[in-house]
Amino acid sequence: MAAIAALKALRKSSSPCFAPFRTTFSQSIRRFISTLIVAEHDGGFVKPSTLSAIAAAEVVSKENSISVLLAGSGPSVEKAAQHAATCHPLVSEVLVAKAEELEHPMAESWAEIVKMVQQKGSYSHIMAASTSFGKNILPRAAAVLDVSPITDVVQISEPRLFVRPIYAGNALCTVQYTGLDPCMMTIRSTSFQGEVNPDAAKANPATITQIDISFLNQEIVGKSKWLSLSSQESERPDLGNARVVITGGRALKSAENFKLLEKLAEKLGAAVGATRAAVDAGYVPNDLQVGQTGKIVAPELYIAFGVSGAIQHLAGMRDSKVIVAVNKDADAPIFQVADYGLVADLFEVIPELLEKVPEKK
Ligand SMILES: Cc1cc2nc3c(=O)[nH]c(=O)nc-3n(C[C@H](O)[C@H](O)[C@H](O)COP(=O)(O)OP(=O)(O)OC[C@H]3O[C@@H](n4cnc5c(N)ncnc54)[C@H](O)[C@@H]3O)c2cc1C
Repeated sequence: MAAIAALKALRKSSSPCFAPFRTTFSQSIRRFISTLIVAEHDGGFVKPSTLSAIAAAEVVSKENSISVLLAGSGPSVEKAAQHAATCHPLVSEVLVAKAEELEHPMAESWAEIVKMVQQKGSYSHIMAASTSFGKNILPRAAAVLDVSPITDVVQISEPRLFVRPIYAGNALCTVQYTGLDPCMMTIRSTSFQGEVNPDAAKANPATITQIDISFLNQEIVGKSKWLSLSSQESERPDLGNARVVITGGRALKSAENFKLLEKLAEKLGAAVGATRAAVDAGYVPNDLQVGQTGKIVAPELYIAFGVSGAIQHLAGMRDSKVIVAVNKDADAPIFQVADYGLVADLFEVIPELLEKVPEKK
């Protein structure tokens, strides 16, 4: 007890004998940092959310060597590997698991691949973006590796010290990882700047290595089967990465009225979002839901029409740079987070905006 008290006093007095120790210790951790990124790709490109995970890996340590793990089949995964190899100067290695059965991401096979790659590479950190893909795969891979994952990281203070939201985003919690390697986490892509100038990386592309997946245990992998994907084809930007998001709530009253929002979104080059109440009422599909149980967005401009501002909705959009709210109730909670508020009927405001906003060229 006395020794602990003495140590605490020493740390408080910021004694010079403590400070160098802390620096050397943290430097020695940094020297052994190597991160594996569990990467998602589409159409021959690494997805922007994965680029954010790579940016987060850079925050862990600039001396970090970063490996990117991709899985898939055909020319699409090969093209994505080329992209991964030249997307960031710190990416030193791209590992590709290529097979017909890996065309669609299934947590069972991914978890086995991550385990095998970890056994060979002994990474200190394994990261993925907090998307449906990352949230599906990383926890299973963590269970297989017998470590406890940290989810939804929004800030990396030190290689093993992270900040993540709790209570639907109403409080931030600082978490220290004290377990064995690897330290596994999902990061919120809205909190890490994914776009890097890739010139330096292009000059010195990472090596691409195809990994042997003959070891995959068919008994485990065969437990689940990919049936189909049902998704909406849209010309509009992806909700998770759009610079402008226009969201409608229950007040829109019908799927037909949501088309008004879609027209406005087209004019503004925006993505359309919805509250859970609007999704549950069947006005729009659930991949448009923003909030605690939907997508987390942080666009430059978020415009909410007829959205009350329930905490579960705010959890998904409160980090937006500028928030505009249109609601006919002046006491609606959404106005507490809005930068600009308009107390008005959305059925008057939207047609007026449609008339005044010019067509997007
Ligand atoms: C576990 C859990 C998870 C949840 N997750 C989510 C989530 O991820 N995302 C989410 O959104 N919700 C989520 N919810 C639901 C959430 O609590 C709210 O019920 C929901 O967000 C309300 O949606 P709303 O604002 O569209 O509807 P309402 O609360 O009904 O609000 C409608 C608003 O529209 C205004 N209005 C009405 N008519 C007009 C008009 N003509 N013009 C202008 N304004 C008008 C009203 O004044 C009101 O403020 C979750 C709930 C739970 C319990």
